[in-house]
Amino acid sequence: MTFSELGLNTALLKSLAENNILTPSEIQEKAIPFILNTNKNLVAVAQTGTGKTAAFGLPVLQQIDPSLQQTQVLVLVPTRELAQQVAKDLFVFSRHIVRIHTEAVYGGKKIEENIKKLEIPRHILVATPGRLLDLLDRKIVDLGYLKFLILDEADEMLNMGFEPDIDRIVRACKPKVRKLLFTSTLPAAIKQIIRQYM
Ligand code: AMP
Repeated sequence: MTFSELGLNTALLKSLAENNILTPSEIQEKAIPFILNTNKNLVAVAQTGTGKTAAFGLPVLQQIDPSLQQTQVLVLVPTRELAQQVAKDLFVFSRHIVRIHTEAVYGGKKIEENIKKLEIPRHILVATPGRLLDLLDRKIVDLGYLKFLILDEADEMLNMGFEPDIDRIVRACKPKVRKLLFTSTLPAAIKQIIRQYM
């Protein structure tokens, strides 16, 4: 299969070609058409290095309305490093789409800087759970327009003790928000989240 056959638009195909990403990986072949063509939640078991960021990033970018200046996608990640990496990948993939803005927010950076940046809502927020909750409590982030909630490295977030935070965040989202969960393992705690929310 080609990325074009999976249903991606020319702007995304152009960025992929420029970055020499030419053949979809297995997770991309499965996830991209599913995310583009259904309204269902997704549980995907995939390790880092399999192309999982593109597997959710590309079809989600294609479904953002750039003219609606509201947070439409929230990606929750366990660490600052992953937040930066995911935001960078999404920035690269969206280079030829006009006016899609992504911001990464994570603990360890001054929250005042996040607040200043988020005066204009970003289409995509990539966040660690604690910092996102802090911003929600301060009413800096509005999840009312959210279309996709993505839990990236969900098993790692649970290992790090983020389960209560994830519970609060999922409950702060409207029930119709599509949930995409990526994990490298399927322990009981992940199965519990899947049963409860997905
Ligand atoms: P990830 O699994 O998201 O951490 O991606 C690992 C790396 O593979 C990233 O640097 C991606 O840019 C790259 N990548 C993603 N998809 C592909 C692909 N289909 N072909 C080649 N490289 C890819």
